[in-house]
Amino acid sequence: MSILEVCRVCEASSISDTGIETALAPANVRSLGNAQFRVWRCPSCRSIHAGDQVDLESAYRAYPFHKMKLDWVLSLAYRRLTQRLSQAGLKQGQTVLDFGCGGGSLTQYLREKGYRAVGYDAYSPRFSDPAPLEERYDLVISQDVIEHVEDPITTIARLEALCRPGGLVAIGTPNAAAIDLDEAEKYVHSLHQPYHRHILALPALQEAGRNIGLKIERTYLTGYMNMPMLSLKFLHYYMGCFDGTLDVLFERPLNSARLWLNPLTGFYLFFGYWLGDETEVFVIFRKP
Ligand SMILES: [Zn+2]
Repeated sequence: MSILEVCRVCEASSISDTGIETALAPANVRSLGNAQFRVWRCPSCRSIHAGDQVDLESAYRAYPFHKMKLDWVLSLAYRRLTQRLSQAGLKQGQTVLDFGCGGGSLTQYLREKGYRAVGYDAYSPRFSDPAPLEERYDLVISQDVIEHVEDPITTIARLEALCRPGGLVAIGTPNAAAIDLDEAEKYVHSLHQPYHRHILALPALQEAGRNIGLKIERTYLTGYMNMPMLSLKFLHYYMGCFDGTLDVLFERPLNSARLWLNPLTGFYLFFGYWLGDETEVFVIFRKP
């Protein structure tokens, strides 16, 4: 295989016939069936890049996350997220922008908890009004966004520009450094092809922030959605009890013999959280 690529994270050129890490990652969304997509890893910053150009507009048409609603599971995760943000100094009454807010569930939760939260999402008809981008915020949060865009470094700079001096920029994203491309099947939900265009390695994310003058306030080696009893490991196991796609998470079926009869269900339910693998990270930066 001949590869001629430039890393969109560190700008390193990787020109190689051999020695560069590549893999074929299966799709994990039902509408894409058994499709497989090529990914490659930058040998310099260890970030992972999607190698196939696809019609993303059509891939997003049946995207399962569009069904996400603020329910008790999400509220538990957001409570955990809010704890992290308050520990970093966020106070009730302060202003928050959720950049890439999807259906707006986090914005809704934060408002209910007394924060002045607004959402922006270019791809969500309800939140595509760019007016919130004229303001500056005490916290700019962006969860599961930078890995979806074509230029993650520019997006991080955009988040910084939307934050007021002294405010916080919080970024949640998968961590390429924790993904082993030799076992692409095992990391299928982190690779999430073809939707994740550029997955940064944690050190590359931290450096991208430092390069634009942000200071690292806190780094969490788990995503806030990863909770005891509802750990990512358990959710991955649960999806595997059905057809292994992300769609299952939004349907919440229970009719699987494997789910009820396999002792691994209890194992992952009770101990999954402690098998952490650092595939999801959450970094809170402060703008001086
Ligand atoms: Zn790189």
